[in-house]
Amino acid sequence: MNSSYTKLIENLEYLKLNQMNLHLDETIDFMTKNQLSFTETLIKLTDYEIDMKEINMVKSMVRVGAFPHLKEIKDFDFEFQPSINKQQILDFTTLRFIELQENIVFLGPSGVGKTHLATSIGIAAAKKRTSTYFIKCNDLIMNLKKAQTENRLETRLKHYAKYKLLIIDEIGYLPIDAEDAKLFFQLIDMRYEKKSTILTTNSNFKDWGDVFQDTKIANAILDRVLHHATVVNITGDSYRLKDHFIKKDK
Ligand code: ADP
Ligand code: MG
Repeated sequence: MNSSYTKLIENLEYLKLNQMNLHLDETIDFMTKNQLSFTETLIKLTDYEIDMKEINMVKSMVRVGAFPHLKEIKDFDFEFQPSINKQQILDFTTLRFIELQENIVFLGPSGVGKTHLATSIGIAAAKKRTSTYFIKCNDLIMNLKKAQTENRLETRLKHYAKYKLLIIDEIGYLPIDAEDAKLFFQLIDMRYEKKSTILTTNSNFKDWGDVFQDTKIANAILDRVLHHATVVNITGDSYRLKDHFIKKDK
């Protein structure tokens, strides 16, 4: 075996350029066959390393997002849920709404795909390296409360305020007492007109006074959430129960 070749492999191993190492032989063959220049060859070889770095970066962004699952838009059956405008959802995945610091609210009963759609958009954002975080409303409030008792509320609020996209899932499933509602309000206020938030809820906005057990706070939250927002009202059947439905005659 030619010693400069062995030396090159050693160098690639030492530098941990595993992809370049892996694709070295085929690239040398390709270079010879197509008479590539040194720079062309080096670009081809380094591209393998860059591609893998990109893949890993995307994977880690998605991991950081703490999504409940990795369901994407392609896994969503729009035909099952005709009340949803597919083009509108596809537009969300372009992340235009994040550029505009707008919010999205998915409103509808259980099982219609609110969490699925919110997650899909979040994954699309994470894949484009937009800092994204998914959290259930109840967990968010518990974390803020805990931070408050430990005298680090400000730091925690800043932490949640910094994500370019925050997904707050399941507002309204559990009532939130008025003190906790104030913590929630503080976060919404910090993000207002600066960062995008996706919220999912099964409660109509008129019932948010009951959810937050304080009409004033609920209105202040709604004001800020809805000022620059698209509300996607899903009115169809639960996908979870779809196989239990008796097919209607056409
Ligand atoms: P919600 O948050 O509105 O209660 P989910 O988004 O959790 O509902 O949906 C319930 C389950 O059904 C999930 O596993 C989700 O992936 C699936 N699901 C819901 N709607 C659809 C759809 N139109 N196409 C494919 N899967 C769907
Ligand atoms: Mg849900």
